[in-house]
Amino acid sequence: TDESDWEVGEFDLDDELEGVASLPVVAIVGRPNVGKSTLVNRILGRREAVVEDVPGVTRDRVSYRASWSGRDFTVVDTGGWEPDAKGMHQAIARQAELAMATADVIVLVVDATVGATSTDEAVARVLRRSKTPVVLAANKIDSDKAEAEAAALWSLGLGEPYPVSAAHGRGAGDLLDEILKVLPTTTQVVPRLDGPRRVALVGKPNVGKSSLLNKLSGTDRSVVDNVAGTTVDPVDELIELGGRPWQFIDTAGLRRKVRTASGHEYYASLRTRSALEAAEVAILLIDASQPITEQDLRVLSLIIETGRALVIAFNKWDLVDEDRRYQLDKEIDRELARVPWAQRVNISAMTGRAVQKLVPALDTALDSWDKRISTGRLNNWLKEVIAANPPPLRGGRQPRVMFATQAATRPPTFVLFTTGFLEAGYRRFLERRLREEFNFDGSPVRVNVRVRD
Ligand code: GDP
Ligand code: GDP
Repeated sequence: TDESDWEVGEFDLDDELEGVASLPVVAIVGRPNVGKSTLVNRILGRREAVVEDVPGVTRDRVSYRASWSGRDFTVVDTGGWEPDAKGMHQAIARQAELAMATADVIVLVVDATVGATSTDEAVARVLRRSKTPVVLAANKIDSDKAEAEAAALWSLGLGEPYPVSAAHGRGAGDLLDEILKVLPTTTQVVPRLDGPRRVALVGKPNVGKSSLLNKLSGTDRSVVDNVAGTTVDPVDELIELGGRPWQFIDTAGLRRKVRTASGHEYYASLRTRSALEAAEVAILLIDASQPITEQDLRVLSLIIETGRALVIAFNKWDLVDEDRRYQLDKEIDRELARVPWAQRVNISAMTGRAVQKLVPALDTALDSWDKRISTGRLNNWLKEVIAANPPPLRGGRQPRVMFATQAATRPPTFVLFTTGFLEAGYRRFLERRLREEFNFDGSPVRVNVRVRD
């Protein structure tokens, strides 16, 4: 395979990939010649994927829409990403990693007439760590007699091998049934429509958390208590804001105010962490009338670690005069430089000033947190940015960024596939440009780099 096939500019993203982006994805992986393309054709029930007897041939189509038993999904033939034969172990391991980052189900195809080769074992090692379900297809079992050969593949440690003959169709139905069994009914693309958004109200003691809670729930309390069909943990509370219910996490803890002399902060931080983990978005309260402290920044770090969307509410604004305001601006520049993307509102829980501005800020943050950029748009953008600003040389070599994909939402998580190490400065540059282009206000964004040497 010509190296240039790996450049973003020449990466073929067919239209179909765009159109089916929201369907669950089944990735077919395995070394060359085990019958991946044949299996894809079998799944599609038509002769569409290019089948070549030449190992490692570059195929120009990688993604197809398929359906079985009334379920639609996308099949990705990773054969299209196969590099040359040298470094096969590594190449296949990366192929598996790509599948783990992007697929909902992985089908590892092994040629059962050959048995598990060292390459198959290398890929199985990678896939055993996978959180994505893996189905093992023992291919080229063309007859009953050959069935025993499939059983030998238990040794790969990936569970039951499904005997199949991609070429003749034998066992294909059982394999597809098994794939459907582990295929999620919806992908994470679909926004949650099934209940109120979950909010954690966090901040150091005395910033005004319980005051804000009282202010917010003071109005419309009775309406909220009667929202139908919602089951809420008794420690949580449904509060109606902007005409919609929101689930505030662990309000019981905020109202109760356990104050123990020793270890108070430790328990408070455990509590904060578990509230964040249960929430989708955090409102971080900071006392605007006092200098920003270490304790505020520790809570901020917890939010960033858990990857939640973020609104920073500067409370006690009624106490902020011109001088303090000037100081605060400087503190924000200095202390909050790592979250320039956070939504910010200046409120007073006591007077009620601007508390209604929390709702649009929460909405913006959650929209960004849920946002998915299609692979096509992402790579068009990437190609332009890289053409204008190529990555800096490393040891005289130019790392190339070949392909990018959004592997997850909540928070948006991107994977860049590169031929060499990208410096932290350049990664930050790409993240900044990504934010400018696609607008992730209010949400953290993660960018992971997978290097192929
Ligand atoms: P890929 O490189 O993994 O995509 O493999 P292909 O689908 O191109 O198949 C490689 C070779 O194996 C081709 O010659 C196929 O005809 C053959 N093949 C694929 N599936 C089967 C099968 O179930 N039985 C037999 N006997 N041969 C198969
Ligand atoms: P928590 O520990 O974070 O729950 O904080 P509280 O809600 O108990 O508030 C701590 C103190 O700050 C109380 O005396 C509140 O009356 C006061 N407080 C809360 N919000 C405001 C505000 O917006 N302005 C002023 N001036 N005081 C506030």
